[in-house]
Amino acid sequence: MEHLKIEIHGIVQGVGFRPFMHREIRERGLSGTIRNSSSGVVLELEGERAALEAFLEALPHRAPKLAVIERVEPRWGLPVEGCEGFSILPSLVEKERNTLISPDVCLCEDCRKELLDPGDRRYRYPFLNCTNCGPRFTIIKDVPYDRPLTSMGRFPMCPDCEREYHDIENRRYHAQPDCCPVCGPHLWFRDAEGARTDGDEAALKAAREMLRAGKIVAVKGLGGVHLACSCGDPAVVSRLRRRKQRDEKPFAVMCRDLSCARAICEVSEDEARILESWQRPIVLLKKKAPGLTHLSENGYVGVMLPYTPLHVLLFGDDIDRLVMTSANLSDTPIVYKNDEALERLSGIADGFLLHDREIQTRCDDSLCWVLDGKEYPARRSRGYAPYPVRLARVRSGLLACGAEQKAGFCLTKGDYAFPSQHLGDLKNFETLENYEQQIAHFERLFDIRPEALACDLHPDYLSTGYAKERSEREGLPLVQVQHHHAHLASCMADNGLRDPVIGLIWDGTGLGTDGSIWGGECLVGDFAGFERFGSIRPIPLIGGDLATKELDRVAWALLRDAGLDRPGNAVWEAMLAQGLNCPLSSGMGRLFDGVAAILGVKTRASYEGQGAVLLEAAAAPDESGAYPFALSGTPLRFDWRPMLRALCEDGADVSHKAAKFMNTLLLFACEQAEEASRKTGLRDVVLSGGSFQNMYLMRRLPGLLRARGLTPWHHSRVSCNDEGIALGQVTVLNEKSKKEA
Ligand code: ZN
Ligand code: ZN
Ligand code: FE
Repeated sequence: MEHLKIEIHGIVQGVGFRPFMHREIRERGLSGTIRNSSSGVVLELEGERAALEAFLEALPHRAPKLAVIERVEPRWGLPVEGCEGFSILPSLVEKERNTLISPDVCLCEDCRKELLDPGDRRYRYPFLNCTNCGPRFTIIKDVPYDRPLTSMGRFPMCPDCEREYHDIENRRYHAQPDCCPVCGPHLWFRDAEGARTDGDEAALKAAREMLRAGKIVAVKGLGGVHLACSCGDPAVVSRLRRRKQRDEKPFAVMCRDLSCARAICEVSEDEARILESWQRPIVLLKKKAPGLTHLSENGYVGVMLPYTPLHVLLFGDDIDRLVMTSANLSDTPIVYKNDEALERLSGIADGFLLHDREIQTRCDDSLCWVLDGKEYPARRSRGYAPYPVRLARVRSGLLACGAEQKAGFCLTKGDYAFPSQHLGDLKNFETLENYEQQIAHFERLFDIRPEALACDLHPDYLSTGYAKERSEREGLPLVQVQHHHAHLASCMADNGLRDPVIGLIWDGTGLGTDGSIWGGECLVGDFAGFERFGSIRPIPLIGGDLATKELDRVAWALLRDAGLDRPGNAVWEAMLAQGLNCPLSSGMGRLFDGVAAILGVKTRASYEGQGAVLLEAAAAPDESGAYPFALSGTPLRFDWRPMLRALCEDGADVSHKAAKFMNTLLLFACEQAEEASRKTGLRDVVLSGGSFQNMYLMRRLPGLLRARGLTPWHHSRVSCNDEGIALGQVTVLNEKSKKEA
């Protein structure tokens, strides 16, 4: 007989780890105990040496579906206590917390069967869940993950649930948020006049009737409230747009199942797999035919499948597809509380389907494309947060504050970087407030006290303000990281790279080290530093920020610089001549904006990147031609003037001109990267920055780089846009603080 103690680190709480182990251990004829600790799970086993060794060896390969074992620490030679059987002990609260927290998990197949089985006691119960599924991150107040420290704390289990909870043979054995119609949360419905309908069935029926009647219903879900309405009715969708003050941004659609999605979109095998994965992100899918313009003005529609029992119950019969958009007004954070929903959505929703399970933490739906069989994230949130990115040799206690328009922070602890969920635009007071609260929440959950801070170089970003203020208040060192260097580092960290790389970093805007605006950059560097190897010819932004909305200002400046005829504008001419509020920008986003305006695709943008999005949508996929260009100087700059002259002379239609424009960018990118490779001997090329949310570029550029003997890398765990910046900042900060140590 021997005694073996095993500490297991990773996502091992709230994923059915203990009951799974219970069964494993019993089958192997071992005895002992298991308990959750603040840093994972602790097993104390007794049995014959060979059986213990076999168990230990199999451990990493035998774990429940949602568990992620990061580290196993065995300890032999402890005194044998002669324990019998196997039991689960109460959680051990230690001073040091190290537990990873599971993201929220979509309804599992077993629970779905029960939900639809008239003989089951949870038949049509909108909150059923089990060890393998249900809410996690969004209901956790604190760790360890036990019912009293979640939103379910105020729902004591009924005797039936209690029995299942203690029954080792049951799927709900030790499932913390488990509940049933007798003991768990319930729905209610409220109409616009304030009339309330109680009871799950009655509330559901009222909501479904309202949806069928072409009305807008606020539906409280997992990480916040959605606004839902019929997807096939352009009138109600445009009413929703008007009320939500969201003129042109696309709406996501929830489809009853895969076949309902396939009816409106092309769905590849990889896309189907990710749509049906337990993370259930919104996947951006190609529209089947031009149309559905009331949902999205570009070539893609964001589609997701039902991920909670409540969603499943909303569908059925004649409801196949619903618009499901985050309930918020003009980019404020998603509404997540009942009273807040009733108050703030009163002019928007015709009815409210709410419930009494509180959401602790806001978490929007995640949004991604599928690229090379993996998620290519635009927004990393529900289903992914707060799962960490593993970084080798990272210092604990680092906090990176991110950028501004697509905010996100990142904390480190013991080889892990914890990027936040999607937070939105900090320019908004409420988003800033939520940002600060979420930093505090993450620090508490993961027990991290920041010892060093990183932020952007831009002095006006509110995240920079937060970092500076905190650095002063707490006396912490602060490192300001150049925006595009952070993008480069982020893509390196995303791919586990450590050696110097070439980075094609294309985005709308970021402050450069020379005080001008950058964004069409070719950098060479690593976590420690970078060099600006190449860029693009700068573009004057007439009127500064105004030029990011009024795209004809950019078009005018581009044409003027290229020596082409343009409509006269004395005011702009004078501003340029005097250099009055005409900052120079080498942002790729601005070049897209200008060309979108020149081609008449878009002259006024209602959201950031709209010009580029529409240009991508307009492009003919089979066009292989490109325009002439020049590459010269130090940094090696792409001169777009020859391209513009050729484009303006080109008799082809808009779709071909749009494609030729992007083909020209692909060509210059390859030549620039190739030149950088010749000069440095490097072969790895990371692609980052918001302009790479352009799938026309992303489905072509990697192949073209490979054809030139280079190795392209793109994001798959955090976004290429500014939401992913914090991960890069944290790795740069880590490198800097290593040097100082
Ligand atoms: Zn389940
Ligand atoms: Zn119950
Ligand atoms: Fe950026």
